[in-house]
Amino acid sequence: MTSTKSPIGGHVPVAGGLATGGLKYAAEIGAETVQVFVSNPRGWALPEGKPAEDEKMRAQDLPVYVHTPYLVNVGSPTQETLEKSLASIRHSLQRGRAIGAKGVVVHTGSAVSQPYEAAMAQVHDHVLPLLDEIPDDGPDLLLEPMAGQANMLCAKVEQLGPFFEQLEHHPKLGVCFDTCHAFAAGHDLATPGGMTETINSLIATVGENRLKLIHANDSKDLCASGRDRHENIGAGHIGEKAFAELFQHPAVAGIPFIIETPGRAPEPHGKDIETLKRLRDSA
Ligand SMILES: [Zn+2]
Repeated sequence: MTSTKSPIGGHVPVAGGLATGGLKYAAEIGAETVQVFVSNPRGWALPEGKPAEDEKMRAQDLPVYVHTPYLVNVGSPTQETLEKSLASIRHSLQRGRAIGAKGVVVHTGSAVSQPYEAAMAQVHDHVLPLLDEIPDDGPDLLLEPMAGQANMLCAKVEQLGPFFEQLEHHPKLGVCFDTCHAFAAGHDLATPGGMTETINSLIATVGENRLKLIHANDSKDLCASGRDRHENIGAGHIGEKAFAELFQHPAVAGIPFIIETPGRAPEPHGKDIETLKRLRDSA
């Protein structure tokens, strides 16, 4: 594999330990990169790591990413949710550093019932200090635009612009581009040229070298559905050709791909990774 080839892997379950369970699953699905949760994705608990597992994660070669829990929302008008969200992001960043992660993914969130401006002011006031806390050898914080449900702060890639302004183009700030979310938000990735145009627009919005991770997911729903339902690669409305086009974009060269596709067994995940490797290697 040359250095410009994107490593392709998946979100892995970590039952049995980050390294013991997660890396075993990674090997079973042929993953060249992994994403993990470092706490319950549907809760607020902030568990400590196991030093031996952390050490094994640091000692292995696959690029590692952490996804923050689903409940995190820095745009929330509820003080308790905001505080728990910030503690959760801080925890993921610290745990991420302990396992040698390159990036921590956070959803861009929702204003819920408050004005957009108030939610974005919270992003500035509370997330900028978190970015400043990250040591040089710590992970980047990667903003992941959403599928475009009501009151979302960022769904279209152009809406990353205000985030980068509020966060003062911090050197530790990056982007995780989720193909299913972008398609649901209205970027027509399935039309020839659509994927290229969307990535061009993303780069024009945030600048070069900010795209750090791809979440490669097909979509069960049509473009602009606003629905976030992932499908296996090639089995949804985005389709294989769009992923082939994605591999051809120069800004994507070398950027890791993580699948978050359906299936609770290694088999469908292994197949998705195999499909993406084939598209990558023939790009
Ligand atoms: Zn995603």
